Order: sequence, then structure tokens, then C-alpha cells
Amino acid sequence: MTKEQSKVLIIYTGGTIGMIKDSESGALKPFDFAQLEKHIPEIGLLACQVDATSIAHPIDSSNMNIAEWKEIATIIKDSYDDYDGFVILHGSDTMAFTGAALSFMLQNLAKPVILTGSQLPIGVVRTDGKENIITALEIASDYDDGKPVVPEVAIYFEYHLYRANRTYKFNAEHFEAFRSPNYPPLAEAGVQIKYNRDYILPPSQGDLDVSLAMDNSVVVLTLFPGISQHIVEAALNFNDVQVVIMRTYGSGNAMTDSWFTEMVHEKIEGGLLIINVTQCRAGGVTQGRYATSTSLSKAGVISGGDMVIEAALAKTMHLLGKGIRGKDFAQAFRSNTCGEITV
Ligand code: ASP
Repeated sequence: MTKEQSKVLIIYTGGTIGMIKDSESGALKPFDFAQLEKHIPEIGLLACQVDATSIAHPIDSSNMNIAEWKEIATIIKDSYDDYDGFVILHGSDTMAFTGAALSFMLQNLAKPVILTGSQLPIGVVRTDGKENIITALEIASDYDDGKPVVPEVAIYFEYHLYRANRTYKFNAEHFEAFRSPNYPPLAEAGVQIKYNRDYILPPSQGDLDVSLAMDNSVVVLTLFPGISQHIVEAALNFNDVQVVIMRTYGSGNAMTDSWFTEMVHEKIEGGLLIINVTQCRAGGVTQGRYATSTSLSKAGVISGGDMVIEAALAKTMHLLGKGIRGKDFAQAFRSNTCGEITV
């Protein structure tokens, strides 16, 4: 297949890229999708064919929820055979979470799913949105010898393409808003789009298998010097919570006070799953490197390795959604599903 024959579906979900100023309050709010096309006539000049659709109620991505993830995944599922690639327009605030969630929900993916957005609305003269959309469409439609160049869920933002489940939003102001600290960019866009082909997943074999169930019985507990016993106790004792993701220090270290280590031990004995993800935004957890993580490992805390918290959360919801618990959960969590962790 050539670029000219590729068909790409744009799925608009909201975000700054499609926002206008409310005439009364002056705040940015999502507008009707039809206006987005009006603002980017360049789409009509691309070699590939482009269609567009939208989720029922486009939102600021701070309102993104499991219902919208399911809606996006269902649109992809229903139109998978009709398109060669997908571009999801999404607010940048929670784009890394949605990208990670979709990477787990869209199992056996063999076509590009590229998320993009912008820091400035498309109607603003200095918008970063146009370049982001145009290049995302180019990437989503890129096929070599009939095979998609990027058959995975990725984020394109400000000249870089990243594996979505390796990213986080690190800058609220700069056009370059995303980082992928533990995995190299899949592509860099300059005069040409240069792909790092060795780092891109091969297309999956078999039929697309969309797993919509996401279970949010999870709590994130960020440790900090001075954290009180009550707070830790409350986080580990919420009703119906199956998993606690503990954001620890450095390479996975935590305080060694006996109240803390005993509580962690007791809760794990009682069936709670506790995951160790570092607060550092690069590198990962190596339990046992320092004495301050040895007790966690002895108690059965599951290491999150070099996963970013966004991916750890999405993977947890996905595994719980599939009904995976106990030792099976620990094993699945530590395994590589779609490039989210180095094993
Ligand atoms: N608040 C916006 C959103 O995430 C910011 C953006 O689009 O970049 O929807």
C-alpha cells in the first residue's frame, strides 16, 4: 500500500487543540468538531484520505475517564477494518494516561494509533496544533511494502514521536510537553520524519482484540518525609481497593519505621497488592539495592521496574478488569505486554 491509498480516521476527543474562548468568561472551552476542519484546510492537501469523527461529548482532558477510554477504543474497534491508521486529538493534560490505557486495551494492534494535541488552540496564529496534526496524519498513514511503519499506540508532540505508555507530561507551558525518559523516541520529525525502526514494535499477528474492562479499584500513595501513620493506614485500608501503587523514593526506597514495614507486610499477607513505582521521573525501581527497599521486597511488594506511573495505573486497571488477582497479577504486572517496561 502507498500513502495515497492509506485511509486515516481522526477521532476528536477535545482538548486545547479544539477550544475557543468563551465570550462571557474568557475561559477556554471545547467547540464543535466541524470548526476544527475549517481551521486546518491543509488536511485536504495530504496524500492520504482522511475522515473524521468525534466522541459524543468532547472534553477538556482533565475530565477524561474510563467511559471515554471505552468510547475511543470502541470507535477504533468498529472502524478498524475500514482504516489504515488512527489519529486521536486529545488534550495534553491526560494524554499520557489515555495513550497508556489504549495500549493495553487494544491487544494485537497492527495499525498506527497516534495521539496528538496542542498547547495553543488551533485558532491562535502561533498554534502548535497544525504541525502536530499534519505530522501525526503523515505517520498514521505511513506504510512500507504494505506494512505500517508504526503499528503501535504513540504520542506525537513537537517533532517527537514516543511510545505512549512510556510518556508523561512534564511541561505545562512549553510546546515540547512530553518526555519518554526510559525509552528512546520512535521518530523525530525534521525536514524528513526519521524513524528509529529498531525501537518500534512489529505489527501484532492475529485479530485485534479489544479489552474494554478497566477496574479502578486502585489507590496511589505518594510517600513524603513526615507522612503520618494515619495517612498510610487509610490508604492501605480503603474498602474495595485491590491495589495500592506506592510512589517511593529513588530506586524504590521507603522509610524503615517498624509501623510502616509491619503494616505493609500485614496488608500483603491479607491479600492487598502493593506496587512500587519511583517518584523519580527517569530510571526505575530496583528493590534490594538499598536496605531501605529490602523490607518491601521481602514483604512481597511488586516492583514497577522502569514503568512510568501513568502506565502503571493503566496496566493495573487493565489487569484488574480482566479479573487477574494475586500471584497471577504480580507476574503479569512484571511482564512486558506492549513495550511499557524493560524486562
Ligand atoms: N486542559 C487541556 C486538556 O488537557 C490542555 C491541553 O489540551 O493541552 O484538555
